[in-house]
Amino acid sequence: APVTIAIDGPAGAGKSTVAKRVAERLNLMYVDTGAMYRAVAYLCAKEGTNVHSEKDVEALLEQHCVSFEQGEDRTLQVVIDGVDVTSRLREPEVSALVSTVAAHPRIRQLLTEWQRAFAERHSVVMDGRDIGTVVLPHATVKVFLTAAPEERARRRQEEYRRMGYHVSLEDMVKSVIERDRKDSERSIAPLRMADDAVRIDSTDKSIETVVDEIVQLVEN
Ligand code: C5P
Repeated sequence: APVTIAIDGPAGAGKSTVAKRVAERLNLMYVDTGAMYRAVAYLCAKEGTNVHSEKDVEALLEQHCVSFEQGEDRTLQVVIDGVDVTSRLREPEVSALVSTVAAHPRIRQLLTEWQRAFAERHSVVMDGRDIGTVVLPHATVKVFLTAAPEERARRRQEEYRRMGYHVSLEDMVKSVIERDRKDSERSIAPLRMADDAVRIDSTDKSIETVVDEIVQLVEN
């Protein structure tokens, strides 16, 4: 059976960076499930769809061709109507809408099915919020990656700065905490640690240290 590594945790804990490096070290595929929810939010923003209406979001997905492809450097390429929108998915506008879109059960159902089908065909590191709890309950290794809110906000702020956006640390802390609240309080597949997950706090740890710890969990 394929090896599956589930990495869940709150926003800005370093999941994508760590998951991608673990995938490189172990020569596995990597799927950033956040990018999939972001793709739906991006499309809503672009088309002016009411993100609070599940029916409208579903109808939108029926009208457009959204596809997920494995890119060259292990990133998930998101292509909408033939246009690669991968580089647009982490913009503030998308981040502000994504938790609302991700709370719709039928949208989750759709993406969860894609994620499970992928993991049946490939050995994979998958990161998100509900991978260990819902998507891959039988994952080989489950990690819950956290960090202090201030540290997570600092990392997001740095990411935004590189994209050319300037957000104060105070506002960043607020938006990170607000997204975690929405992700944890929704009734379907809320953000929470699986009972059999290993918790790793990355606040004072380098990326390499966290990657080493996860690789060891897999090899043991
Ligand atoms: O990980 P990232 O910050 O890109 O995730 C964006 C958003 O997508 C999360 O805040 C959450 O609302 C949603 N998400 C989710 N389930 C996942 C992955 C992401 O609900 N497995």
